[in-house]
Amino acid sequence: MALRGGASRLNSLFTSRRFYKFTPRIGVRGLSENVTSKPAAASGPETAADHLIYTQEHFALKESLRKIIDQEINPHVDEWEAQGTFPAHRIFKLLGSAGFLGVNKPVEYGGMGLDFSYSVAVAEELGNVRCGGVPMAIGVQCDMATPALARFGSAELKDEFLLPTIMGDKVACLGVSEVGAGSDVSSIMTKAVRKGDEYVINGGKMWTTNGTQADWMCLLANTSDGPPHKNKSLICLPMNLPGVHVARKIDKLGMWSSDTAEVFFDDVRVPCENVIGQEGMGFTYQMLQFQEERLWAVANVLTTMDNIIQETIQYTRQRKIFKQPVLYHQAVHFRLAELQTEVELLRSLLYRATALYIKGNDVTKLASMAKLKAGRLARELSDSCLQYWGGMGFTSDVQVSRFYRDSRLLSIGAGADEVMLGIISKYMDMVPKK
Ligand SMILES: Cc1cc2nc3c(=O)[nH]c(=O)nc-3n(C[C@H](O)[C@H](O)[C@H](O)COP(=O)(O)OP(=O)(O)OC[C@H]3O[C@@H](n4cnc5c(N)ncnc54)[C@H](O)[C@@H]3O)c2cc1C
Repeated sequence: MALRGGASRLNSLFTSRRFYKFTPRIGVRGLSENVTSKPAAASGPETAADHLIYTQEHFALKESLRKIIDQEINPHVDEWEAQGTFPAHRIFKLLGSAGFLGVNKPVEYGGMGLDFSYSVAVAEELGNVRCGGVPMAIGVQCDMATPALARFGSAELKDEFLLPTIMGDKVACLGVSEVGAGSDVSSIMTKAVRKGDEYVINGGKMWTTNGTQADWMCLLANTSDGPPHKNKSLICLPMNLPGVHVARKIDKLGMWSSDTAEVFFDDVRVPCENVIGQEGMGFTYQMLQFQEERLWAVANVLTTMDNIIQETIQYTRQRKIFKQPVLYHQAVHFRLAELQTEVELLRSLLYRATALYIKGNDVTKLASMAKLKAGRLARELSDSCLQYWGGMGFTSDVQVSRFYRDSRLLSIGAGADEVMLGIISKYMDMVPKK
């Protein structure tokens, strides 16, 4: 029987509110030094009364999550980055028990039954984790591998996979990209061939976040030889089945604490009931699932961008060149002012897209625009801010250099910038009809 604890967990979150005070610090911080306060407000209204989409409940949720980030995650981030992985089962159990892995998922499967704006609030708060890898892994668990299962999966599948994922008892991963197919999802080669009441799966997946630790994969595979948009299905695949081989953990430019795996399937047998929703609808379900993934990614990077600007202001205010703080050179503070303006524009777009999405609108165009802008802005912002740290910015000791490495992924993963431009162009009706 599925759990019905979400609502009561939300209640207890709201009654256990605690506020943090900001203590300004000067100089170079340890990369993952426990920052128990928000930097001086960079992101506009911080109260429910003024906010476009957040209520008091959103703020209470963020505050409770912040405690876990400060106490259980940030103190360990440097160690996990050095190790190239983090203890997903332990951290997910912690987050799951507190309700953070399923805020917009059904209450009967352990979620809080709230709307997607609460997921956006969680993603924004997770931007306070002092690396990109851990939030990305959490994002895969709650908003990338599970939206289609929650929406279209059978009750049995949800009991077996969704409930333990929301509770943090199982780690999930998403298997879409392959060695030969990333941007062009329709050209994946992994096959699931029906034999009796089982699928026999052969092929492989590349770039699988959480791949070395996952208990199950939301797998996109070809289940027939039909046209590429109608021959695919999403399948819940337990990772401990015979024939599932985690071939290697991939060494990366950034996102070090997140394990990224290459996985092969060699005659893996899985019951046909493990298909999510209707067979042949996998491509459509995955495209829908991408909308939440992209909005999540935008929300997550916004807070980190605010933090990087604030830390750059603090550092350049105390670092003197030519007898005055670096910050007081007009080129520097004008540039930071411009970047903060861009962050606020992106935030407005995110909130608009979120508000429309929770009312049931198709926000593919706005989500693609926001994801495109987020990737480009993160590259610009990390490069400009790193510059103002001088040689310190080039060291591994400061957050800005980690963000410079981590944020590069945003223009590639979950659909590259060019893929976003392609989608936007189609919505603008500028592309020749096939
Ligand atoms: C750290 C990391 C984690 C990831 N996690 C996951 C995961 O958990 N699950 C998963 O399924 N995938 C995951 N991915 C895969 C990611 O989504 C793909 O890398 C991405 O979709 C791009 O695919 P590709 O790498 O095959 O690049 P390709 O498809 O080979 O594209 C290469 C480049 O071509 C350009 N391009 C693409 N389309 C066009 C066009 N129409 N016009 C002009 N230029 C174009 C873009 O610049 C693109 O970067 C992850 C990737 C990384 C690096």
